[in-house]
Amino acid sequence: MKRRLLAALLLPVTLFPAVLSLAGTAAPIAIAVHGGAGTMRREQLDEALEQRITAKLREAVEAGHALLAAGAPAVDAVTAAIVILEASPLFNAGVGAVYTWDGGHELDASIMEGRTRAAGAVAGVRTIKSPIHAARAVMDHSPHVLLSGAGAEAFAQSQGLDIVPNSHFDTPERFEALKRAKARAEADKHGTVGAVALDARGNLAAGTSTGGMTGKRWGRVGDSPLIGAGTFADNASCAVSATGHGEYFIRYNVAADICARVAYKGLSIEAAGHQVIHQTLLPAGGTGGVIILDTAGNISMPFNTEGMYRAAIDPDGTRYVGIYR
Ligand code: ASP
Repeated sequence: MKRRLLAALLLPVTLFPAVLSLAGTAAPIAIAVHGGAGTMRREQLDEALEQRITAKLREAVEAGHALLAAGAPAVDAVTAAIVILEASPLFNAGVGAVYTWDGGHELDASIMEGRTRAAGAVAGVRTIKSPIHAARAVMDHSPHVLLSGAGAEAFAQSQGLDIVPNSHFDTPERFEALKRAKARAEADKHGTVGAVALDARGNLAAGTSTGGMTGKRWGRVGDSPLIGAGTFADNASCAVSATGHGEYFIRYNVAADICARVAYKGLSIEAAGHQVIHQTLLPAGGTGGVIILDTAGNISMPFNTEGMYRAAIDPDGTRYVGIYR
C-alpha cells in the first residue's frame, strides 16, 4: 500500500520533469540595448567620450534589467532603457537628435510586445520630450499603431506626456554634423537607440527611438517607427531593434525578416541575423545592425559597420558592453 502511494506520488514527477525543472530554476530574463551603428573608429573616439558612452549604455541596460528582475513586463524594461538613452545627448534620440535639413528635429519611435503583437509608434514629432513614451501611449491608449506629426503631438498632450520646444533636443555636436552633411549635400545616418527584453513570464518586447538621419528633408520617415522594419517582437520567434540606413531597413523589412527566418526556417537568431545583416543588406548597400533576443534568452548583435554601441545582460547575469567589432 505504502509502495503504491509512493508510486502515485512519484508518477507525476517522472511524467513532468520539465515542470519540475521549470520550478527549480528561475525563468530566464535578458535584455540588450543599442545606441546606434556607424563609422566609429577607435582613433576618432577619445577615451573620455568612449567611457561616457559605455557608462550610459550600462546605465540603460541595468535599469531595464532591474525591472525585469523585479518581475516587470519586458515592455516596461524596454521603455525604461530607451528613456535613459533619449535623455542623453550622446545618442541620436531625444536630446542629441540629429538636425533636419531645415535645422530642426523630427523624432521617430516605436515599441512592440511579443505576446500580443500589440504595437505603437510615432513619426516626425517635434515637441514630445520622450518619443518612446508616446509610442507606448499609442500602443496602450489608442486604437491605432502609428501616429504622425501634429496629430501625434496632440495625442501625446492629451495623454499628459511632457511637451517641450523643439530646441530642447539641440546639441552643438549635431549642429556641426548638419553643417558637414550640408557641405556634402547629402543625408547622413546613425546613432539611434533601441532595446529588446525578455521578462520572467517568457514575453519579449522591442523598441526603437531616433532623430533619423542628419539633413533629412521633406518629412522623411525612417525605419525606426515602422513595425517590421526597425522594430519587431513576436514570442514565436524573436525581438529585434535596428539601427542603420533606414531606407534599406524599410525596403528589406529587416526586423520582421530576421524573425520570419527564425519562425519559418527554424534558424537560430544568430544565423538569421547574420544572413540578413551581412548577406542581404550589405551587398545591397545597406549599412547598420540589429540587436536580437529570443525567448530562451539568447542574444545576438550583428552589424556590418565599423561599430555599434551596444550592451547586454544575459540570463546568467553576464554583462557585456561593446563599441567596435
Ligand atoms: N535607422 C535610423 C533612420 O534611418 C537611423 C539610425 O539608425 O541611425 O532613421
